Amino acid sequence: MRTLDDIDTIGVVGAGTMGSGIAQVAAANGFDVVMRDIEASFVENGFDAIENSLDRFVAKEELSEDEAEAVVSRIEGTTDLADLADCDFVVEAAVEDMAIKRDIFADLDDVLPEDAVLATNTSTLSITTIASATDREELVVGLHFMNPVPVMKGVELVVGEKTDEGVVDLAHDLAEELGKETWESDDKPGFVTNRILMPWINEGIRAYDEGVADKEDIDKGMTLGTNVPMGPLTLADHIGLDICLDASQTLFEELGDRYKPAYLLKRKVDAGDLGKKTGKGFYEY
Ligand code: NAD
Repeated sequence: MRTLDDIDTIGVVGAGTMGSGIAQVAAANGFDVVMRDIEASFVENGFDAIENSLDRFVAKEELSEDEAEAVVSRIEGTTDLADLADCDFVVEAAVEDMAIKRDIFADLDDVLPEDAVLATNTSTLSITTIASATDREELVVGLHFMNPVPVMKGVELVVGEKTDEGVVDLAHDLAEELGKETWESDDKPGFVTNRILMPWINEGIRAYDEGVADKEDIDKGMTLGTNVPMGPLTLADHIGLDICLDASQTLFEELGDRYKPAYLLKRKVDAGDLGKKTGKGFYEY
């Protein structure tokens, strides 16, 4: 079983909101990183997001220009999954779709060294079901980073039916090495965080759709009223409305009516207004 000392190169699958953040944090903590997406333009977008984030750390004088450049130089971008062949630990952060994640895990299983560890950043999907696409189910774990990854301290460790205790320990040690704190969840839909967060977001969307208050007042009421940094509609825009819908759909299918996605959430996603990442969600960016 690998330990933290055996981890030099980290693979990241998906260069979107989360993948780019995970790649940045891994490189900032001295790991070599290979970041893969399906199209070169998506890999480029990932690098743009990383550079923008690093610029903010430089502006706040938390990082020097040279350190920021060194972080970027430790990340190799690719569209070819075979380029992850030398990775010791891979974090998958592709779209929240079980079929796509299972395909990625089956492909990674073929490409990676047989003792390499596979983690998924899934928000709600079963670690056990994803792991069953591989022949190394004991080496698969949920490593659920929070958004934005370079800023948020928390990482949720999700333990699948067959996940080895040593892999949970390694995932915990790696998260700490990246400057994060962890908590553990069993492999149940939505784990701790999204099981509780998604109904809150959906209720905020319903309150807006049903005319309880305008969107600014719903967000203001929840931020000032409950001392959270963002209200439900702003937070949904930051997460991505498509991700919120996929996560809510999984919770609804597994746990029933109380988790049914808000109607307006579905309408927004169908209209292509996915939040911050498309420039328009409940608000304009
Ligand atoms: P995103 O839409 O920003 O990025 C997903 C990326 O995956 C895209 O660039 C897409 O091209 C890429 N992709 C799709 N299929 C791929 C494949 N086969 N191989 C490689 N890349 C592929 O999504 P995101 O917000 O970064 O979410 C990624 C994962 O992290 C999801 O499982 C999501 O549920 C989870 N997550 C998201 C948040 C959040 O706040 N956005 C928080 C925690 C966890």
